[in-house]
Amino acid sequence: MNICWICGREATTREHRVKASDLRSIFGVVTQQSPLYTKQDGTVKILQSVKSDFAKYSAKICHHCNTTQTQKYDKAWSELTNYLLNNQSVIGSCKTLNAGKIFSGDFKQGILYCHLYLVKAFGCKIIDDQVPFDLSSFAECILSEKAHPDLYFSVDNKIKSKNRNYAATSPIQVIHHGSPKKVVYAAWYYIIGKVPIKILYYVNTPPIPVHGHMIHPRIGKKFLRLA
Ligand SMILES: [Zn+2]
Repeated sequence: MNICWICGREATTREHRVKASDLRSIFGVVTQQSPLYTKQDGTVKILQSVKSDFAKYSAKICHHCNTTQTQKYDKAWSELTNYLLNNQSVIGSCKTLNAGKIFSGDFKQGILYCHLYLVKAFGCKIIDDQVPFDLSSFAECILSEKAHPDLYFSVDNKIKSKNRNYAATSPIQVIHHGSPKKVVYAAWYYIIGKVPIKILYYVNTPPIPVHGHMIHPRIGKKFLRLA
């Protein structure tokens, strides 16, 4: 039996690597007649729907966690990425984006929910990439709707994606330290169109220089500074 890493129930569902709503925003309707192509482990896979298993993490979570528990996090993330995709032509040239209109609800809650969506994605990514890591504090944050102190994200202007018809997640980069070895830094990219979103994990201070402006729910400014 597969166990949900968030709550311990039986796990039967899988999270998208790039959210289905983001895939639809970029590529429109995906069908057998107009499929998407993705490369995994050096092999090209054909997606005949955005719900294809090839579009998802191999890590499984339970139905409850993937729907009831995290639906509002997913919705906030879609509102943020829709806003970023709608503004992608200026992202390379401006330093801040007014964030007051991104969410249909409260701004602080919107940022918290986006953060918690990334906490869920981080857990699935860590398991998928087989990084030894204790995810219990991440699971606790998802279940209690509290921010994780050590997870950040940024819109990283240093990555220049030229193609609007593109969506991908990068492999995770990890730095270990100490004895026994512990992950002290982890980073990966979630790229949609010309919008490169960097997700970063570090405790207190990063072990390597981190450029740009890290977004975290404890910093409640109503604009997004671009990295
Ligand atoms: Zn669960």
